[in-house]
Amino acid sequence: MGLSRLGTALRVPARLAVSRFPERIVETQAAACWTCPACGTQVQPLRLDDGRWLRLRCQCEMQASAQQQQERQRALLAQQRRELLASQLFGWLAPAQLAQGPPGRFESFRLEARPGDTPQTVRQRQLALQEAQRFAQDPQGTLLLVGPPGVGKTHLAAAIARASVETGTPCLFACTVALFEQIQVLLRQDEDYLRLLQKAAQVPLLVLDDLDKPKPSDFREEVYYRLLDQRFQSGRATVVTANHPPDQLLAWLGAAGVSRLLGAARILELGGPDYRLLPRRAGAVS
Ligand SMILES: [Zn+2]
Repeated sequence: MGLSRLGTALRVPARLAVSRFPERIVETQAAACWTCPACGTQVQPLRLDDGRWLRLRCQCEMQASAQQQQERQRALLAQQRRELLASQLFGWLAPAQLAQGPPGRFESFRLEARPGDTPQTVRQRQLALQEAQRFAQDPQGTLLLVGPPGVGKTHLAAAIARASVETGTPCLFACTVALFEQIQVLLRQDEDYLRLLQKAAQVPLLVLDDLDKPKPSDFREEVYYRLLDQRFQSGRATVVTANHPPDQLLAWLGAAGVSRLLGAARILELGGPDYRLLPRRAGAVS
């Protein structure tokens, strides 16, 4: 076919998309004769059994095609990696029922006013959604979502976690109740729970949901401090949700933990009615 001859002395542009090459199988010989504008090669057509013509490829088209294949391969690997990260997101604390995690995507976060809302609580939700989306794009520092139960803190925290793994940032989501349960399980089995904490300390993004739901204790204070301090020292991003306002978190975190958490935290307050107590609307996701 003389294809090797075509491959010599080419000045191939840095990057040609496969899509810029004409159709390869055409009706007429004339249409299958084509000169590549990039390398100047005139490619000869091949007559196919069905009478149509196959345009052969010049060197740059073959390169572009190989490149496209590589890109597909890379995209596939990236997709597999995202799926792996997503599967670890909620399942890392082991219980299978938690593998799906709490529901929550940015698209399903409800902004509209509900009975019991004030203009301020509606504005808080808008701001919290914006800030959470911004944080998910580029997780830096600590984001603290505070407010009474059922105002959407966990929803936003889960949405941040999902968005972050979708863009390739590994993230672990820990409902603190499940975290301490898992630590108990490991302690009972005489296993090292520090490895679990190490995982939480080292992941690029950690979500600690319901920080103040387990009762305060010296042990929990120690765990929180260890986690927050390591993450703070290494500059890793953390999202925390809590019911109590920051100045009341002392009981769970101690003075050192509070200073670690609040040192550079962006605090988003949410208010309004508890959506779990509102009548459900068809199709609504909370
Ligand atoms: Zn060419």
